[in-house]
Order: sequence, then C-alpha cells, then structure tokens
Amino acid sequence: MTAALSEVSVRDLLRMKVGRPVDLSAIDPRSTPGLPGLPVTGPDRKSWARAELRRLGDDLAEQQEMLHAQAVAGAAAGRRVLLVLQAMDCGGKGGAVKRVAGAMNPLGLRIQAFGPPTAEELSHHFLWRIRRALPDAGQVGVFDRSHYEDVLVVRVESLVPEQEWRPRYDEINAFEAELVDDGFVVIKVFLHISYEEQRERLLARLTDPTKHWKYHPGDVDARAKWPDYQAAYAEALSRCATEAAPWYVLPADRKWYRDWALAHLLREHFAELDLSYPPARFDLRAEQARLLAGDGHLVNER
Ligand code: AMP
Ligand code: MG
Repeated sequence: MTAALSEVSVRDLLRMKVGRPVDLSAIDPRSTPGLPGLPVTGPDRKSWARAELRRLGDDLAEQQEMLHAQAVAGAAAGRRVLLVLQAMDCGGKGGAVKRVAGAMNPLGLRIQAFGPPTAEELSHHFLWRIRRALPDAGQVGVFDRSHYEDVLVVRVESLVPEQEWRPRYDEINAFEAELVDDGFVVIKVFLHISYEEQRERLLARLTDPTKHWKYHPGDVDARAKWPDYQAAYAEALSRCATEAAPWYVLPADRKWYRDWALAHLLREHFAELDLSYPPARFDLRAEQARLLAGDGHLVNER
C-alpha cells in the first residue's frame, strides 16, 4: 500500500464540534488547513497538492477495491462509505466528484445528484428518495446535495412551513445514526466558498459557452439570499454534527486545496476501517494444479 497520508489530520482540522454553534464567517474559504509545511503563497504548493492528489487517488482506488472485495467475500459486515457533499452554487461539488470520486472504480461507486423533488418524491417522506439512493455494502456512495436540502433550500425559500422542516434536524440525526449502526461510514462535507468567489465562478459560466449549461438564472436569486443560506447552513451543521456522523467545513475557494483536502479526508476515514484484501476461500495449490493439469490435457489433444 502506498503511504500517501501526511502526518496531519485534515479530519481533525475541519470537523465541527458536536453541540456547538457554527460561525461560517470565522472560517476563511481561501485558507488551506493541514497543507503540510510549504510556502504560504506561490505556485509550489498548488503543483504539490495536484501531484499529491494523484497519489491519494491511487490509494483511494485501492481502499475502495478492498472494501468491495470484502463485501464479495461476505467479510465486510455491511460496511460502506457515504460521502455527502453540500455547497452553494458553484461551490465545486461537480469538480470534487470528478477529481476525487473519479479516482475510484466506477463499478464500486454509487453517485447520486439531488435536484428539486419530483411529484412522486414529494408525495413521500423527505428521506424516501434518499434511502433509495444509498450505496450497497462494499460501495462508496456520493451524494451531490442530499436530505440537507430539506432544511436548507426548503427553509430559505419557505417551501414548507417551519413546523414541518424544524423537526427534520432530529429526524436526520436519527436516520444517520441508523445508517452508522448498519455499517455506514457517513462523511458530510460542506464546500465553503466565499461570496466573491461565487461571483467569479458565475461570471465564468456566463463568459464561457461550454459552461452555459451549468448556469441557471435562479442561481442569482439564491445568491441574493446569501446570508439566509449561510444561516441555514450554520444551523444545519451545528444541529446535525454528531459523533456518529460529523460535519466537515472544507474551505473551497482554491480548487486544488479542495480536492487534496477531500481526498485526504476520505483516505483518513478509510484508514480507520483498516481494510485488507480477504484471504482466498479455496485451496490455492489444488486450484493451480487443476488449472495446469487441464491446460496440459488440451495441449496434448491438439
Ligand atoms: P444543482 O445541484 O446546481 O444541479 O441544483 C440542484 C437544485 O435542486 C438546487 O437549486 C437545489 O436547491 C435544488 N434542490 C435539491 N434538493 C431539493 C429539495 N429537497 N427541495 C427543493 N429543491 C431542491
Ligand atoms: Mg447549480
């Protein structure tokens, strides 16, 4: 196994404290917590982080394969990983999926993006569509938006009355605790971008014809409610950061830091699973002998 993990625990640096208020304005979206001792500015650390991301990506792919192999061998006790990504528009969820989840084998991934609920989804409990999208044992699931939208956009846009969304924090905590009991590792990450960075990224989407498809006029309406969204995020992060399923706030103005930190965070969680390839469940020597003998037989017949 490649030892791509640096000494530092990104996980400890980015984790929200359980039961404490969250002040997003105190977390600088341009900061780079945990990036090992490099110059504060300059191109060096960007190229370092990109190179390190490739190493971490290879390592993640191996971890994912071991998780899958254990499930195939019936040894994993339902273990699986669920990465929940939340962000304001242009927060970089798509880029993070492409660069970090993209390092793993698509066969072992279950990636689901959540948009506005369909009529059918609305006719069910808000967790209904979430449960249907969960990864199977041995898989790594990635949610691009999630059940948290039901206490974020739903709250800010008053899509349901407060007496309906307010109890959802407790429901979410109970739901996630149940997942963890079932063998899930739940990793919730808020990609934290600044108001200024969002402006740059929205402008880039308008300038570049290959990015027009990503632009929605409604994004500017949501942007106008930035403080309301930040407040809704702060409350969701503080109410739903639990020991079982912590919340991480990842400064995301710098894409190279975002990808490195997310890969590092995932790798740290995998390390805790202490995965290995399962042993063969057959007689290795007997199988080798059988195969060699069989081939000899065919060659002789030709
Ligand atoms: P995007 O992730 O940029 O493709 O946009 C998806 C859109 O779906 C965002 O505007 C979300 O606010 C919206 N969305 C996701 N989940 C919900 C939900 N439960 N209720 C209402 N809108 C949602
Ligand atoms: Mg969008």
